[in-house]
Amino acid sequence: MNSVEFTYDLLREHFPADVEILQLRELTTWQTGGPAVSVTVTSSGMLADLLGLTFREGIPWFILGQGSNVLASDSGCREVIIRLSGAMSETAWYRSENGWDLIIGGGVRLPSLSGAACSRGASGLEFAIGIPGTVGGAVFMNAGAYGNSISDFLKSVSVLDYTGSANTIAGEECCFGYRFSRFQKERAVITGIKLSLGIDDPAVLRSEGKRILELRRKKFPLQYPNAGSVFRKPDEGIPPGKLIEDAGLKGRIVGGAMVSCKHANFIINTGEATSDDIAELIDNVREYVLACSGILLKEEIRYLGRRN
Ligand SMILES: Cc1cc2nc3c(=O)[nH]c(=O)nc-3n(C[C@H](O)[C@H](O)[C@H](O)COP(=O)(O)OP(=O)(O)OC[C@H]3O[C@@H](n4cnc5c(N)ncnc54)[C@H](O)[C@@H]3O)c2cc1C
Repeated sequence: MNSVEFTYDLLREHFPADVEILQLRELTTWQTGGPAVSVTVTSSGMLADLLGLTFREGIPWFILGQGSNVLASDSGCREVIIRLSGAMSETAWYRSENGWDLIIGGGVRLPSLSGAACSRGASGLEFAIGIPGTVGGAVFMNAGAYGNSISDFLKSVSVLDYTGSANTIAGEECCFGYRFSRFQKERAVITGIKLSLGIDDPAVLRSEGKRILELRRKKFPLQYPNAGSVFRKPDEGIPPGKLIEDAGLKGRIVGGAMVSCKHANFIINTGEATSDDIAELIDNVREYVLACSGILLKEEIRYLGRRN
């Protein structure tokens, strides 16, 4: 029995209705990646039990949101994929005199949260309307756009650590930086957050949301599977898209993966790309840009499973 089968059987004993073997290509926006054992978790109690079990049995895990920032191995992964759903995908809204306080599950999707905030007249999250991730993924990455990041509105983060113990961390203690949070250095699941938003006219907020979506449609190759920006902005401050374009790499192809002609920091799956194609193209781009500009680009995307 291989390790995936062992893990599957063990988890099925404890969570019979919630464990399945899925293809990672169904769970990632690049639409690539092989098989993995997946558990859909519907409450923090269930998550605590699962983390306790994986800790005792030494089973590795990976928490996956919408997979919009992940390159998953073609051969799948040993890690159990944990996905948040049910009570962990709900939002509670509280109107105060000066604004809105929200308690949001880690599995809530950012575009629907942002849309709902605009419709209620809760201001601040308009920037997030086109970011296709979950709240947990957004906090982990400190996702942002158009001058705002999720951390700007965050009061606190609820987590379960790798043993299943719960903790609440104040926003100031999350070590937020550009596409960085302390959670990138810890083994913890972000189960929920508290946010504070302002108040504005819903019509104004909806029109700002529409404007942002329109800008993104014009700028990004959204008709192809992709994972947003592949590389982080380097310390030199030059946008990676410009460095890649200046290196003459727009339209460069490896297998089914291509550097987008519309936005050079996007790698698109033209139809039949594998994760290996994408990984090889990422390596190519990094090497060419280094040779042309002397600047070493680092990935923003996260890897899941072994690279061949
Ligand atoms: C078309 C497109 C446009 C994009 N535009 C932007 C943009 O404007 N700005 C921006 O910042 N990003 C952007 N992204 C990237 C991506 O959407 C964000 O990084 C997003 O926050 C990732 O969320 P996710 O739920 O998809 O996380 P995933 O991709 O599933 O995971 C990313 C990382 O977060 C971790 N993680 C996920 N959920 C949790 C959790 N609950 N607890 C602990 N760790 C967790 C994962 O383990 C993984 O390491 C874009 C992506 C696409 C495809």
